Amino acid sequence: MTRKRKELFAHKIESITEITPGYFTVNFTRKFDFTPGQVVALTLNKENDPRLYSIASSNKASYMRILFDVKPDGKLTPPLSQVEKGDTVYVSKPFGKFIPSQDKEWWIATGTGIAPFISMMESGSELPQKLLHGSRTIDNFLFQDDISNQLKSDYLRFCTKEKGEGIIEGRLSNWLKSQESLPQNTKFYLCGNPEMVVDVRDIILSKGVAFENIMAEIYF
Ligand SMILES: Cc1cc2nc3c(=O)[nH]c(=O)nc-3n(C[C@H](O)[C@H](O)[C@H](O)COP(=O)(O)OP(=O)(O)OC[C@H]3O[C@@H](n4cnc5c(N)ncnc54)[C@H](O)[C@@H]3O)c2cc1C
Repeated sequence: MTRKRKELFAHKIESITEITPGYFTVNFTRKFDFTPGQVVALTLNKENDPRLYSIASSNKASYMRILFDVKPDGKLTPPLSQVEKGDTVYVSKPFGKFIPSQDKEWWIATGTGIAPFISMMESGSELPQKLLHGSRTIDNFLFQDDISNQLKSDYLRFCTKEKGEGIIEGRLSNWLKSQESLPQNTKFYLCGNPEMVVDVRDIILSKGVAFENIMAEIYF
């Protein structure tokens, strides 16, 4: 069975920034409307299979931003980290259903999985009751200053390799396990690596959260 590829449109790079070693944001001119939480398919060369990226910017901005880390053996991210202003990227129309609800929400992310939540916050979506963010190192809590300014004590950072002020040691999944109960009538949005998403899903299901209240975006 052949999978239909998404149509790709040429966009001009406006800027690229290495926000912390190995982690980049790329801004390109926005051509399409989107709902925060959606993704685009993106490539530098139409002959190569595109990769998916969550949009990490406001749906009102003139540009669209993505956030990525370089996979040293990856096909796209090493050359993508070398682009310059004025270069062309080929990008699909936005798509995806990882979008805000009308309910109370908890957001849970690891690493670059914070991207859709940045878009939600910058677009003016209802803020979550809590945002749990996991990272190996403190520098890799991407956008942590912006998030802290908005969410204050509802922003919980979990670090597995380093200690720091206001940082909770260990995995966010362990913290969830240790909670006596979790709020019901709340949607849980999970975004990041497959291990975290599967672990957290199982833990919160075991604490009585209904399956239909769990939204997952897996970066495989
Ligand atoms: C819905 C969705 C949203 C996503 N959003 C984001 C985002 O916002 N930010 C982000 O950084 N990423 C995101 N991703 C991941 C992203 O799509 C890419 O997978 C990632 O950036 C790596 O791309 P790459 O081409 O550099 O690496 P790839 O070429 O895809 O390789 C990835 C890794 O797999 C290894 N690998 C490749 N082929 C093989 C093989 N045959 N056997 C074993 N190992 C292999 C490589 O060595 C490398 O380490 C998302 C993924 C999905 C599905």
